[in-house]
Amino acid sequence: MARLLPTNIQLIGDELAIAWNDGAESFFSLAALRMACPCAVCGGEPDVLGNVVRPEVYHSRDSYALRGWSVVGGYAIQPAWADGHGSGLYSFAYLKKLEAAAVTSAAQDSPNPTYSVT
Ligand SMILES: [Zn+2]
Repeated sequence: MARLLPTNIQLIGDELAIAWNDGAESFFSLAALRMACPCAVCGGEPDVLGNVVRPEVYHSRDSYALRGWSVVGGYAIQPAWADGHGSGLYSFAYLKKLEAAAVTSAAQDSPNPTYSVT
């Protein structure tokens, strides 16, 4: 199987659009992307007992705006947020997982639910 790689990354409005080398395209809202920042500061790190203490993370308007991004190590995208945060490495596999999760929650919020009679 070919390695998953982005062939094109573009900022479109408040969404990051990524075209992959498998022909798929992903769209991530910047807010959702920032909330999913996988870095230790945003996500929390387990302490010696394995408890994850979620830190208080302050987000401002700038937290959801991008100054730019870089592709690092051939496996991840590192966004540079307008509020100065930039330590989150979003691996390509992580982005695909995020997208799958977003698609699932969108389906659950469907305005046309199917009713079942029990
Ligand atoms: Zn972070």
